Amino acid sequence: MVKPRLPEEELCREIGDCEVLIVRSSTRVTRRVIEAGKKLKMIARAGVGIDNIDVKAAEERGIKVVYAPEASKTAVAELVLGLMLCWARKIPQAYRELKEGRWEKEKFVGTELKGKTLGVVGVGRIGGEVALKALAFGMRVLGYDLVRREEMEREGVKYVDLPTLLRESDFVTLHVPLTPQTERMIGERELSLMKPTAVLVNTSRGRIVDERALLKALREGRIAGACLDVFEEEPTKNLELLSLPQVIPTPHLGASTIESQRNISLILAEKIRELKEEGKG
Ligand code: NAD
Repeated sequence: MVKPRLPEEELCREIGDCEVLIVRSSTRVTRRVIEAGKKLKMIARAGVGIDNIDVKAAEERGIKVVYAPEASKTAVAELVLGLMLCWARKIPQAYRELKEGRWEKEKFVGTELKGKTLGVVGVGRIGGEVALKALAFGMRVLGYDLVRREEMEREGVKYVDLPTLLRESDFVTLHVPLTPQTERMIGERELSLMKPTAVLVNTSRGRIVDERALLKALREGRIAGACLDVFEEEPTKNLELLSLPQVIPTPHLGASTIESQRNISLILAEKIRELKEEGKG
């Protein structure tokens, strides 16, 4: 059965007969839900980022938690480049003006990505793909991560510590998963290290950034702008942030491509088939 956007209470009522639960990012699979799923053998996250699932509670009951890690890296990486180009060339503003009948090209003199510095926080599957695409655009790319240093430095990414990355970058893009260590990793102190001309891009998880500190930094002109696909609360009600002209928001579109959705479905179908095979054995 397909029942999107069920709150905890209803999910607890519905889950009793299910052996496999497939969720996207907005459904919270809490300990209560897991305990109500008496027949549950697998929780499949259709995408990347399992911060909405109580993995510990699932493991305690021997329930497998699977996801589709490779499926959306191109989709998210292309969105990051798209957002940076929108920012640099003022595409959303120019689009709106012209749709309203105003041809005011002198207002929309942009900048180029070539020669600018991009800081990638979390050089994993998506961050690594963003780094390679940015290098192809002629950007200088700095990386901050605990892993993949040798591999990515061979490609041309320079690994630095987080304060150096924040100080030197024209664009900072976030690709760490949401964990207790990364929650609010970008707060007032980190934003204060960024250049006043720099732009923050977040397509990872809203709670990695302290949204109040971001709003303050934008208002006070301590950073120039933000491209945000994810928010502390979704759908976001932070109209103060959305209404700032220097913010380019998208409604969590990172993995929303036909190709990515197809990849996710195929990967999860294969994992569910394997589970059935194991059950027969
Ligand atoms: P990944 O696991 O391949 O990469 C994450 C990287 O972050 C790893 O290299 C890891 O070492 C690094 N990292 C973790 N904690 C760190 C820390 N404290 N300091 C520095 N580095 C740290 O994950 P991925 O596939 O690249 O996905 C990244 C995130 O993107 C997901 O967790 C998810 O939240 C988000 N995402 C968003 C969308 C969207 O629609 N906007 C779609 C897919 C994924």
